[in-house]
Amino acid sequence: MESDFLNWPFFEAKHRALATRIEAWSREQLEPLLHSEAYRLAGLDARCQHLANALGQSGFLDICAPEAGPEGFDVRSICLAREILARRSALAEFVLAMQGLGSGPITLFGTAEQRARYLPSVRSGRSIAAFALSEPEAGSDVSAISTTATASGDGWLLEGEKTWISNGGIAQHYIMFARTGEAPGARGLSAFIVPADSPGLEVAERIEMMSPHPIARLRLRACPVAPGQLLGRPGEGFRIAMATLDVFRTTVAAAALGMARRALDEASRHAAKRIAMGRLLIEHQLIQGKIADMCCAVDQSALLVYRSAWTRDVLKQRVTRESSMAKLCATESAQRVIDEAVQIFGGMGVQSGTPVEELYRDIRALRIYEGASEVQRVILARQHMAGFSRAIVVAEQ
Ligand SMILES: Cc1cc2nc3c(=O)[nH]c(=O)nc-3n(C[C@H](O)[C@H](O)[C@H](O)COP(=O)(O)OP(=O)(O)OC[C@H]3O[C@@H](n4cnc5c(N)ncnc54)[C@H](O)[C@@H]3O)c2cc1C
Repeated sequence: MESDFLNWPFFEAKHRALATRIEAWSREQLEPLLHSEAYRLAGLDARCQHLANALGQSGFLDICAPEAGPEGFDVRSICLAREILARRSALAEFVLAMQGLGSGPITLFGTAEQRARYLPSVRSGRSIAAFALSEPEAGSDVSAISTTATASGDGWLLEGEKTWISNGGIAQHYIMFARTGEAPGARGLSAFIVPADSPGLEVAERIEMMSPHPIARLRLRACPVAPGQLLGRPGEGFRIAMATLDVFRTTVAAAALGMARRALDEASRHAAKRIAMGRLLIEHQLIQGKIADMCCAVDQSALLVYRSAWTRDVLKQRVTRESSMAKLCATESAQRVIDEAVQIFGGMGVQSGTPVEELYRDIRALRIYEGASEVQRVILARQHMAGFSRAIVVAEQ
């Protein structure tokens, strides 16, 4: 594994130790699991459960749902875990990430009782978590959410539809965002923990993706939610969603980085042994140029990813700008790196089941979820202009 970057000043000894542990675990436990008969014969849902159990036993899910609560989040650790897993298995990486995203609101905003009730089984992999924000008419625009939570007795009744919900159909609980109406738009949302077996909650449709993982459209019809299932205060839903994404956005970039590193490894190995026109591919300057550009792209992404994670962990600052930049650059450049790897493989690159063909499908969605690239650009430009305008005001005083 590429490990020189672990000597960068963003990391401490605990990160180097963690990376070594995850790498060894991936080699000794994950690879045999991925090649085992039970896993190969299992359907998608059962594969995810196998992976959740294995990750739970390894202890790595603690990184995503820390026992210490909000202070326990170490974004560099989550990034390393996602990066290293993504090099071997997009599905294993997905399972780890979703345990974090689907429980992050509880870690960040849950009461002691809610944390004690839900988080241990998420950490052990016995229970699968999901984060249900998007709706058919509300993806990038969270303020358009139309699922409602209407007061009923001590609690609420949920009514509406959610879509593109990862782990939909296999989760034991959903973090559900619904309109409670304290204010218009995004300020009138609340967050609830909704057990999957709640009456009135049904999986309306399982959706097939180009990079398969469990994902569904959910329907809520007079679905009751008890008062103890509210996260934070009524009207805090948007803040809860954004605070959770603030932890996890940089880690999406880390997953993209892991996929790009794998593509670079595969392409380098192939270029060093494939003969074309009487020479090894790597002896052709055009191929050397591709490899050089891929190396630059990977290091640029790694620098942005770990700068963002370090800024949050060590400087304890909000990282809206840094995490948007990391996500935008790392996901977009991973797509280009993987595309070049496919090109270097020639026909084999588009043959179903080869590592680069799988990466080509796996990377695509990362440019869309948790804020599509266009949305990251809008955020970045706004952040830049706000700082720029402040600087002008100061200069003119
Ligand atoms: C694999 C996958 C997993 C997902 N998992 C989850 C999950 O677990 N939970 C969950 O809640 N959601 C999930 N989603 C949904 C995801 O968050 C949304 O798809 C995403 O937010 C984009 O929303 P949309 O699909 O409605 O696209 P739209 O919002 O309709 O956007 C369509 C296009 O327009 C662009 N666009 C939008 N606004 C602007 C603008 N202001 N300026 C310029 N361009 C703009 C977008 O960038 C995009 O390219 C998942 C999606 C995918 C693909």
